[in-house]
Amino acid sequence: MINGDCATSVPGLFAAGDAATREEICGGFTGGGSHNAAWAIASGAWAGAGAARLAKAGGPRALRRASELVAAAQVGEHGLAQPADELVAAVQAEVFPTENNWIREAGRLNASLQSLDRAWRELAGSAPSGTPEDPGARVRAREAMAMLATARWMYRSALARPETRGMARRAERAMPDPALRHRLIARGLDEIEIRPVAVSHDHGALAA
Ligand SMILES: Cc1cc2nc3c(=O)[nH]c(=O)nc-3n(C[C@H](O)[C@H](O)[C@H](O)COP(=O)(O)OP(=O)(O)OC[C@H]3O[C@@H](n4cnc5c(N)ncnc54)[C@H](O)[C@@H]3O)c2cc1C
Repeated sequence: MINGDCATSVPGLFAAGDAATREEICGGFTGGGSHNAAWAIASGAWAGAGAARLAKAGGPRALRRASELVAAAQVGEHGLAQPADELVAAVQAEVFPTENNWIREAGRLNASLQSLDRAWRELAGSAPSGTPEDPGARVRAREAMAMLATARWMYRSALARPETRGMARRAERAMPDPALRHRLIARGLDEIEIRPVAVSHDHGALAA
């Protein structure tokens, strides 16, 4: 998200709910009990209003431009080199086991990343394709690649947080490390960058 309208860096694409970060209101913990649902409703309303404002300001041209960008992103796509359900199972094998993903530890995170990164390299350049008989194949392949990308962001971020804070638990240190009292922003596809970002004083109270 790049602004209060829940816009993203892709013009015409807005994010809301679980698809958008809610750490500004929940900090390092989940907001079970109210925050998550409240965030989904509030951010959905902001994103909807932002999209409506964009459409109103640019008229049909703004919406056509957004759909052209999506279409352009799909040019040159060809099918996944591996069936989507196999890729989903391969990602699940790394992220489902609680010994990998509940209490995390650098050695296991690195081992998982090796196989996730290998899968990413092998699938580089491939993307969803559907057929008239199975148009849903494009969506399933796109979802499988998104799971792989997310798992790589997740474990790289986890490696950069060798402490226990909020929902993030590390075997190496059962307590928060005061030196790591910052947010981590993950970005990139082939090369992943994890950038620490300071929390403001106000947000700090929530992020503890
Ligand atoms: C077990 C559990 C307990 C929870 N308890 C609480 C709680 O006590 N309090 C609280 O505030 N929050 C709780 N949450 C979190 C809360 O449910 C979520 O934060 C909230 O539902 C997110 O809303 P959303 O609209 O962003 O996503 P979702 O509710 O996940 O909605 C996304 C929708 O998109 C659909 N979809 C996905 N892909 C496609 C596609 N390709 N095409 C079309 N549709 C698609 C999905 O089927 C789904 O209906 C809980 C979550 C879980 C899993």
